[in-house]
Amino acid sequence: MTARLVESRRDPAMADLDVTLPAGDGWTHEIGPGDVFRIVDLEGNQAVDTLFFSSRDLDERYSATETIRGQGNLYLTTGTRLMSSEGRPLLTIVADTCGRHDTLGGACSAESNQVRYALEKKYMHNCRDSFLLALARGGRGMTKRDLPSNINFFMNVPVTPAGALTFEDGVSGPGRYVEMRAETHVLVLISNCPQLNNPCNGYNPTPVRLLVWRAG
Ligand SMILES: [Zn+2]
Repeated sequence: MTARLVESRRDPAMADLDVTLPAGDGWTHEIGPGDVFRIVDLEGNQAVDTLFFSSRDLDERYSATETIRGQGNLYLTTGTRLMSSEGRPLLTIVADTCGRHDTLGGACSAESNQVRYALEKKYMHNCRDSFLLALARGGRGMTKRDLPSNINFFMNVPVTPAGALTFEDGVSGPGRYVEMRAETHVLVLISNCPQLNNPCNGYNPTPVRLLVWRAG
């Protein structure tokens, strides 16, 4: 959809949680209905690979297919409802100063690094391992099979008229953010992408700021 640039009135000083996630790190956090979650691209051009699960039933999880079908568009921005595999909204994007986020490009992995770039890239830090490490630290016993297609906040993956995907330079810049309201009990899973082989992080992964305002 066309970028819907909307600023938030929420004050970071009033946030109930305010953490900085270093480049390449993973993170999990649970939020509840009405809580508002913001991701800030502190230095610009940083892909933030993200998944959402219903924390009351981890088998219900973010679905790119349901999200795209629900809004009739490939790109995520203000107004997008992030849908679950059961066709229910998990969160709604309520503010966005970047204007476009990807849900087609997927997360980088040891295997994709090897296939796309070079054999010796297999051992480079990657998002799928960060997802799994963050889940393991949370003790939830989830595995690779629990990782559906993800969202790449601040990442630009335009689709050509012929239907091809291209990984382009980011459309984001320093301080741009995306903010979403939880519609239910949600487990947030993030890998702050460490990728160095394509322009998704401008060849320089950087930290992001994560904020939560509790409902009421
Ligand atoms: Zn990645």
